[in-house]
Amino acid sequence: MEESSEAEEPPSEPPGSETNDASASLRRIPRGSSRRSASTPLSDNAKSFKKKHFPSVSLALWNDWHWQVQHRFRSWNGLRRIMHLTDAEQAALQIPSGRFPVAVTPYYASLLDSENGQDPLRRSVLPLSEEWVRHPEESTDPLGEDKDSPVPGLVHRYPDRVLFLVTGFCSTYCRYCTRSWLVGRHGSGGHASRRLWERALAYIQATPAVRDVLISGGDPLTLADDALGWLLDRLRAIRHVEVLRIGTKVPAVLPQRITRDLVWLLRRDHPLWMSLHFTHPKELTPETAEACARLADAGIPLGSQTVLLKGINDDVTTLRALFQGLLRLRVRPYYLYQCDPINGSPHFRTTIARGLEIMDGLRGHTSGYAVPSYVVDAPGGGGKIPLLPDYVQGVDGEDLILRNYEHRLFRYPKAFEVVSGPGRVVHKAF
Ligand SMILES: *Cc1c(COP(=O)(O)O)cnc(C)c1O
Repeated sequence: MEESSEAEEPPSEPPGSETNDASASLRRIPRGSSRRSASTPLSDNAKSFKKKHFPSVSLALWNDWHWQVQHRFRSWNGLRRIMHLTDAEQAALQIPSGRFPVAVTPYYASLLDSENGQDPLRRSVLPLSEEWVRHPEESTDPLGEDKDSPVPGLVHRYPDRVLFLVTGFCSTYCRYCTRSWLVGRHGSGGHASRRLWERALAYIQATPAVRDVLISGGDPLTLADDALGWLLDRLRAIRHVEVLRIGTKVPAVLPQRITRDLVWLLRRDHPLWMSLHFTHPKELTPETAEACARLADAGIPLGSQTVLLKGINDDVTTLRALFQGLLRLRVRPYYLYQCDPINGSPHFRTTIARGLEIMDGLRGHTSGYAVPSYVVDAPGGGGKIPLLPDYVQGVDGEDLILRNYEHRLFRYPKAFEVVSGPGRVVHKAF
């Protein structure tokens, strides 16, 4: 059974060209284009998947994001046709009325390994019955967002910025979602009403301290162009709002959404930044590279957010490949999150020690730009707290003992510290 979204609008794109580069391969991570290419690329995976499961669908339709949303795989019945489901997956998919919806776009489904139940992307979007197990330390709202919510759909936790949850709808649902309490709600399509938006806009308008608005959800880029444009223009019209940000997974799960029309609409409201959710280097396909290139070419600074997930991406090799691949797409790794203790997520959670070990394996070993901040979003609403490996090893006399990325020790004499007094700067010692 397929669900249709409220984000309906007529296709805004000319049909994709049939002459796509067949050599574009998933075996290597593509390089983001710095020019505006004429066609929408089609990766080898998508090509063979489409041929096998949607043989009568034109390339133009496949590249139409509305078609992708309408043909999402949402149940056991659809998924079993495209892959060999494990007993555990079958059991979980057959539990009636799930914790929150299952949905996978045909494009993202083409990236899943149909034979391997341990495939990292499969584990991130297909449920297991562990989701229904209740653990006392977990909750539906571990970040305490409700208590920092002045009006529905708005979280105001930090002094100068707000999180604006504009929709509960996503094209593809991640099983470890921090906002599983929100997603799939707000009526059939999951989009919040304009009445709720008006309340949030009124709050922002009346709160001059807010200089940065982070638009998230759900996935804001599943909104129709006119709704999104309306919202961005309204926010842009508020004098004290300096910066807009959008948090989205669309470039990874629905890259067809990054149409030229969308990009024209987004560049209207600069300075606009974006945080793109990525999980694994397998997501860095030619389609995703093109989506990122279009956004970067529109002058939108791109950052990434990744959740550290057990058995999915919790090793240095995988994350280094992901972060280096993102740099090639002009996406700067921004946050690596410890997996929040939402209900039914223990099978995803790694230890903090593992996270620190991974950070230790990145810093110094690859471009600093490829190293995100590792953060824990403090349960109960403390906000994001950064964690670093122990680079400060101790104090010896007047010296600080530091270690570098190779675990070699260095002294930093206290004497190096600059002591400043009124009207003068003195370097102590020597
Ligand atoms: C993550 C988050 C923000 C943005 O935090 P930055 O560190 O500025 O990216 C704002 N509000 C809430 C509630 C958040 O969770």
